[in-house]
Amino acid sequence: MKFRTTGLARNVKPSAIPGLLAHAEEWGAPATQEETRIRLDLWGALACFTPAGEGFGIELSSDDELFLRALQDAIAEAFALHEAEVLWTDVAEGALAPGLALMRVASAGLRSPNFLRLRVEGPEAPRFAAEHGLHFRLLLPPQDRAPIWPRVGPTGRVIWPKGEDRIHAPAYTTTDQGEDWLEFEVFRHEGSPTCAWFEREPLGRTLGILGPNGGLCPEGAPLLLFGDETAIPALSRILRLSAQPEARAWISCAAPEDLGDLRRDPRAALSTDLLAALEAVETPKGGHVWFAAHASLARAARAHLLGRGLAKTEFTVAAYWE
Ligand SMILES: Cc1cc2nc3c(=O)[nH]c(=O)nc-3n(C[C@H](O)[C@H](O)[C@H](O)COP(=O)(O)OP(=O)(O)OC[C@H]3O[C@@H](n4cnc5c(N)ncnc54)[C@H](O)[C@@H]3O)c2cc1C
Repeated sequence: MKFRTTGLARNVKPSAIPGLLAHAEEWGAPATQEETRIRLDLWGALACFTPAGEGFGIELSSDDELFLRALQDAIAEAFALHEAEVLWTDVAEGALAPGLALMRVASAGLRSPNFLRLRVEGPEAPRFAAEHGLHFRLLLPPQDRAPIWPRVGPTGRVIWPKGEDRIHAPAYTTTDQGEDWLEFEVFRHEGSPTCAWFEREPLGRTLGILGPNGGLCPEGAPLLLFGDETAIPALSRILRLSAQPEARAWISCAAPEDLGDLRRDPRAALSTDLLAALEAVETPKGGHVWFAAHASLARAARAHLLGRGLAKTEFTVAAYWE
């Protein structure tokens, strides 16, 4: 692999390694033990941990430099949770957080009664093409202060601004993307700092798009999709990307106009009870269930699918809001 770095994790408590393996499981990265060495395969990148004295030698390699830097941050962060420090041989100190693109708001308007459609522009837009991941974190700095962006600190960990400079960083879904722009859609709800940000003359302002991360277009036949309003942008993108005629989507949404393109898609239907719809559906082998909604519904959906005996690879369940 083209890009490499090494580090030394010092003062590693015995709890740190099970902790790291638990993180790897959360990231969906398979871990293998080769004698004393632990190896994590992370989407084409490799992280190896070899015992060295009181700690671990770490070797990272990837074909993508941004991903290598993001991994450096995530691993330093995971060890820090167990009070262990990582010393890297090289750190991009002072650089913007890995994966952070600063973009300019080019347009902002209502796309339906309860959704805003935003277009942002910048040369890094191609990185946010669907094959790299459907989602990103939107970084909104306080509007009345000069933005302080998260940057790589001396230990390889990203330093996020705090206090009055704190950045709001919710997750959103790319709905469309071109050579130098991308679009996303924001569900309008009470008490939303994101909506408040876009309601205050956003045109021409700079915001951060961090990613892409999490969630590729799910694969399976049939593809069974369930989501509330916040998942409409993801459902619409997945159905557009998936050539699968067998896909079906159940959507809970108070105003049918908010369904947008999905209103004309025979694969999509409104649902007043996503859990009841999930419980009623058959889940044949080879299929994939995708469910995204409020955290309490997501918990219930996961418990139901595990109770049915589905393997973890046969479904994706995500809490989109709390
Ligand atoms: C992977 C992923 C992709 C997502 N994609 C999208 C997307 O494309 N479009 C989209 O609109 N959302 C999307 N979401 C959901 C979005 O991140 C959350 O709704 C987030 O809370 C919005 O931030 P906020 O600034 O509006 O509110 P926050 O600051 O997070 O919360 C403020 C208050 O609003 C409440 N709140 C948050 N969401 C809702 C809601 N939906 N209804 C009612 N009250 C709410 C919170 O409980 C809290 O009390 C996605 C989430 C994930 C994890």
